Amino acid sequence: MQSSINPANGALLAQLPLHDDAEVDRSLTAASAAQKSWRKVPVADRCNLLSTMAQVLRANKTDYARLITLEIGKPITESLAEIEKCAVTCDFYAAKAPEFLADEIIPSNASQSGVCFDPLGVVLAIMPWNYPFWQFFRFAAPALAAGNGAILKHAANVPQCAVAIEQAMVQAGCPEGLMRSLLIGSGKVAGMIADDRIAAVTLTGSTQVGQIVAAQAGQALKKQVLELGGSDPFIVLADADIPAAAAMAVKSRYINVGQSCVNAKRFIVEDSVYDAFTAAFIAGVKALKIGDPMDPETQIGPMARANLRDELHDQVVRSINDGAVCALGGAPLDREGSWYAPTVLTDVTPDHTSFREELFGPVASIIRARDADHAVALANQTEFGLGASVWTQDMGAARALMRQIDAGAVFINGMVASDARLPFGGIKKSGYGRELGEYGIREFTNMKTFWIG
Ligand code: NDP
Repeated sequence: MQSSINPANGALLAQLPLHDDAEVDRSLTAASAAQKSWRKVPVADRCNLLSTMAQVLRANKTDYARLITLEIGKPITESLAEIEKCAVTCDFYAAKAPEFLADEIIPSNASQSGVCFDPLGVVLAIMPWNYPFWQFFRFAAPALAAGNGAILKHAANVPQCAVAIEQAMVQAGCPEGLMRSLLIGSGKVAGMIADDRIAAVTLTGSTQVGQIVAAQAGQALKKQVLELGGSDPFIVLADADIPAAAAMAVKSRYINVGQSCVNAKRFIVEDSVYDAFTAAFIAGVKALKIGDPMDPETQIGPMARANLRDELHDQVVRSINDGAVCALGGAPLDREGSWYAPTVLTDVTPDHTSFREELFGPVASIIRARDADHAVALANQTEFGLGASVWTQDMGAARALMRQIDAGAVFINGMVASDARLPFGGIKKSGYGRELGEYGIREFTNMKTFWIG
């Protein structure tokens, strides 16, 4: 059974039976057969499925958003925005996939030569709970447009979202079997990765699971895209617009109750503006509205699971023991469910737990930098490399710093966020490969060279 639990109060919402081995086997056979037909469907027609998918998402937006909020406690306005973003991304690829997948002519000594983009086959998608619809659709929209099939193994704490996603695909007219959502334990994944009916793997999740899945996919020599954890730096230089930076810093840390890979987690602030930024940041955090995640006014709901809340608290306690100063929060909230107080740790240094580890929840770490070079050195002093944000009014300096930062994306005077039009992904222990944009759709294609004499 997979249990659907409301983290806002600990109530059991539903229990869904797991799919057995026979069902997994049938699903892989069906997906493999369906994909062989799907790849022959002209790309323009494959894109029609995405356009209909966008309509289905918008038509059921309220229901899907409610499900997200019930299962993981995400504030309802953010759940609604998540569904809209899925629809926008389906529309984006419906419009752009034909262009992204068009043959590329590359002159050589042939009469004509170049590259065409064929699908790889059925892709196994192992997805996390934090954006239960978005994580799937940002992979699936381009992957299906490119002619692939998809098997979703969703996180165990979002089984109702997993089922709803498959139903949405069916409602949109997805060919039978081309996409399946399997309710299975993570112990079943290794066998699926090794199975010949699976051509490639995509995972969004923790670095630890990334290492396991990468090893299994490596053993089977299968293409993989890994989108793992992050400890994104948010650099505030002395000439930055401090009120603007602090306001965006609060949003960037506390959106989704701090449970996003690209939440800013380490705020690295130049010495001369450290106190002003910290004061403005703490004032912003104090103003966040904590409450029922179904209330449209709510900005902070519960964390998604009790064990994630307990692990976060352990990290906060260790950080304080290391010497970080707890300026706000620092403890679970006294409520039923998985609540944690919005927390601000100041005077954090590279020796502290909250600098070294990813804190996946509503906890910010503020770090003092001597100057811009020191800020960049601190930003890079991490095993992660997903996103980074730099705040300054000197665009020349910003562009120079941008090239020094080891991350998959750098945003100047803005918050790191994914966008269907731009590639998204990390380096170092944040993973490899890219999702979204033109680069994303090509990850699960065979870039086939053609040469015509
Ligand atoms: P996990 O990495 O454990 O889970 C992500 C997905 O991987 C889930 O579908 C999970 O399934 C699956 N999985 C877990 N173990 C295995 C395995 N051995 N083989 C194959 N698949 C597996 O994340 P958690 O939910 O435990 O969250 C823990 C931490 O992960 C967070 O604190 C955060 O640091 C990071 N994380 C990062 C995310 C991101 O967006 N980059 C998203 C979510 C988490 P199941 O649920 O059945 O275990």
